[in-house]
Amino acid sequence: MKITKNTVVTVHYKLSDAQNNLLEDGQDPIVYLHGGYENTLPAIENALDGKEVGYSTTIQIEPEEAFGDYDPSLLRVEERGKFPSPLEVGMQFEGIPESSEEGEGTVVFVVTDIADGKVVLDGNHPLAGIALRFVLDVTEVRPATPEEIEHRHAHAPGVHDDDDDDDDEGSDSDQYRSIIIH
Ligand SMILES: [Zn+2]
Repeated sequence: MKITKNTVVTVHYKLSDAQNNLLEDGQDPIVYLHGGYENTLPAIENALDGKEVGYSTTIQIEPEEAFGDYDPSLLRVEERGKFPSPLEVGMQFEGIPESSEEGEGTVVFVVTDIADGKVVLDGNHPLAGIALRFVLDVTEVRPATPEEIEHRHAHAPGVHDDDDDDDDEGSDSDQYRSIIIH
């Protein structure tokens, strides 16, 4: 069947930057609900719309269509004393950036350096400012269930079997990972 609104698409991918450095080898495919539900990047949906199982393509997505440009104002240096021990590069903390306007919500900061009693934190998405090259390979297309359409995301098989109340709001546990993040 063709990929149209309200189909669930399984797509294997390899992700590299514009210089062909491999960023992710896509061991786990993207499984998403197609049709503007913001389950995956719009550029991926556009590339796959109307296609079928077996279709493969390579697309390049500029930062502004992916995870945005790198924002230097999201780089912060804080006192080491504000943080728990042990503290390691790669740890994540939630915080509100100083420049944020009301209602923008929290940003996840990643520790990128610890030195001389200071901690460097970066609130940019790890893929911000990077042009992304996806090799996409469609391996499954199926109609979405009414429940998936109602929830606006694809379900892993059997996930909702013993869950017949409608308190799914805010619970992401039943979703496939559909947007690539590390
Ligand atoms: Zn759900």
